[in-house]
Amino acid sequence: MAEPAELAERLAAVQAGIADAAARSGRNAGDITTIVVTKFHPASLVRQLYDLGVRDFGENRHQEAQAKAEELRDLQLRWHFIGQLQSKKARQVREYASAIHSLDRDSVIDALASDTGTLDAFVQLNLTDDPARGGANDGDLEAVVERVLATSGLRLLGVMAVAPVGEEPRRAFERVRAASERVRRIEPAADKISAGMSGDYAAAIAEGATHLRIGSAITGNRPAAG
Ligand SMILES: *Cc1c(COP(=O)(O)O)cnc(C)c1O
Repeated sequence: MAEPAELAERLAAVQAGIADAAARSGRNAGDITTIVVTKFHPASLVRQLYDLGVRDFGENRHQEAQAKAEELRDLQLRWHFIGQLQSKKARQVREYASAIHSLDRDSVIDALASDTGTLDAFVQLNLTDDPARGGANDGDLEAVVERVLATSGLRLLGVMAVAPVGEEPRRAFERVRAASERVRRIEPAADKISAGMSGDYAAAIAEGATHLRIGSAITGNRPAAG
């Protein structure tokens, strides 16, 4: 269990940081959704954060997310799936997630098609040259967006990205903003940007991020991978 006072303090500090970054960019902090990433942490931490008012949670591994969602089904939570997804597991994610941030290829998109219910979706952009990283290549962005738009049961919200190590985050997020503009040319309603983590959320806010995915700055250090 995290020390409750410390958890509350870290959450408050990040919320203040978000408010400050929004003010400096002339933005309304109320337009920004903070998703607390709880990967590797136990369900008990999610419950503590719920008691502090958090409702949006992020997980990047299906089995772990599924187990926590099951254990916490008495709470009204929004689970955001933010990790790479195998197409054979994709359908199961629909059962607990309210949003998926990592759509990047046809096989996963097709596997998520459904005639019952709507899942919010972001197309992930790979900002590196490494194909092993999640995300669509810049040149494939429009095709992936069109695929999502043509799939029943998915509502495209916008783009998602992780700033690469070794690039100034503000430059990386400028590229994400440019990608967002391309997506909006195809679907004006898909104007959301999922970007910004513990170390770079202020830069992401400056470039228009609407959904922050913040882990360790709020949860403390992650336990070792289990
Ligand atoms: C773990 C993770 C985060 C949160 O990272 P922190 O640096 O702990 O804030 C955000 N996005 C993705 C895709 C992640 O896997």
